[in-house]
Amino acid sequence: MDFNDTPEEAAFRAEARAWLEQNAEPRGPEDTARGLMGERTDPETVRRAQEWQAKKYDAGWACITWPREYGGRGGTPIQSVIWNQEEARFKTPPNIFGIGIGMAGPTIRAHGTEEQKRRYLPKMARGDEIWCQLFSEPAAGSDLAGLRTSARQEGDTWIVNGQKIWTTGAQYCHFGILVARHDPDLPKHAGLTYFIVDMRSPGIEIRPIKQINGGTGFNEVFFTDVRIPDENRLGAVGDGWRVAITTLMNERSSIGSGQSGGGGFRDLLRVARETVIDGRPALENPAVRQRLADFYVRSKGVQYTGYRTLTALSQGATPGPEASLGKLAGAVLQQEMAAFGMELEGLFGATRDRAVTPVEGSMQEIYLGMPGLRIAGGTDEVLRNIIAERVLRLPPEPRLDKTKPFREVPTGPPNA
Ligand SMILES: Cc1cc2nc3c(=O)[nH]c(=O)nc-3n(C[C@H](O)[C@H](O)[C@H](O)COP(=O)(O)OP(=O)(O)OC[C@H]3O[C@@H](n4cnc5c(N)ncnc54)[C@H](O)[C@@H]3O)c2cc1C
Repeated sequence: MDFNDTPEEAAFRAEARAWLEQNAEPRGPEDTARGLMGERTDPETVRRAQEWQAKKYDAGWACITWPREYGGRGGTPIQSVIWNQEEARFKTPPNIFGIGIGMAGPTIRAHGTEEQKRRYLPKMARGDEIWCQLFSEPAAGSDLAGLRTSARQEGDTWIVNGQKIWTTGAQYCHFGILVARHDPDLPKHAGLTYFIVDMRSPGIEIRPIKQINGGTGFNEVFFTDVRIPDENRLGAVGDGWRVAITTLMNERSSIGSGQSGGGGFRDLLRVARETVIDGRPALENPAVRQRLADFYVRSKGVQYTGYRTLTALSQGATPGPEASLGKLAGAVLQQEMAAFGMELEGLFGATRDRAVTPVEGSMQEIYLGMPGLRIAGGTDEVLRNIIAERVLRLPPEPRLDKTKPFREVPTGPPNA
């Protein structure tokens, strides 16, 4: 890949940077990378995030690759990457629109009716309506097609019952994308249908889950006789799995591409500069330098793996399994770097008090957030399966429940 911008890309970058310089404050070396799902849920953070998204939308910088009629800029995937690179250089509120813009939006674009596209996409792009993903259940995560939330049709309405879990942002979202089982007599993948749910519908109960890092980024969501109009069905009845695959492909590539590893290493370097071993900065210690060199080499490996996705995009191709590789290697690396940073911090490594901890406790925050990243969007083991099957071409796992009616697949007690 050619790492330099073409003249057109350079012009686009300059335009993006000029707008950002006028509308946001640049990040300094003291601004640390933060872990997954920090303080995203308080109303003030949500308000600031919506304000920033609306500002970008009004100036034509939201959803670079979406067509203009749906609120985008009509740009190329490479322009979108350039925008993200430039925006990352500035202090902006947390991005709470990833599930909408990164996952629900592309799914509606691929499978929605023209009416659905015009109703939902522009408000999603502007951040006026925020979206969550109602896929996982207590007994269906990696094996998503084993989900049991039921959708029963009554005339032009669907009645939904069941439980979802790990629903990021449900407590402040306006809409959700939901996969439910409309027919348990069909094989598990065939009995699924995909819906758009208004999160304020009667019968939806949202219970936040308290996390190890102190945040409450995700929730349990209970459905009791929730009524969804048929016009909110996305795709045909029974096409839910195919529609869900579009969402999942977009999820993995958005999580994978975010793992360039740059912020984590920069923060770790700062810890090594600011902490002391035997009266000297830790950075001067040969054993520390050796570990840092190893982390640097690995983080460059992750970064360049991410660039393979860019190469595919710039050549108009669909990215392959690089996103799985990047996510797997990147999340493990971030967690190991944060653990080493906490080790260097000595006793301060045990506290999350930003006022006293080197680099404002970012090592602790990354360390506590990374187990989540190693699970979300495909666990380490599931990603290894993908790499084994699609990259190394090893034989696939035996899947014995694919063809029998879902009702006959042995499971625990039903949740609905
Ligand atoms: C931070 C975070 C945010 C999330 N946000 C959302 C959200 O907004 N919406 C949503 O719907 N879900 C969300 N999830 C849920 C996420 O999609 C699931 O946690 C994930 O798919 C794993 O499912 P599970 O938790 O049920 O674990 P399981 O699938 O039960 O896995 C348990 C263990 O078994 C292993 N395992 C499972 N299958 C295999 C296999 N075939 N081969 C080898 N090992 C296997 C797994 O690797 C894991 O170690 C989120 C999760 C996290 C951590």
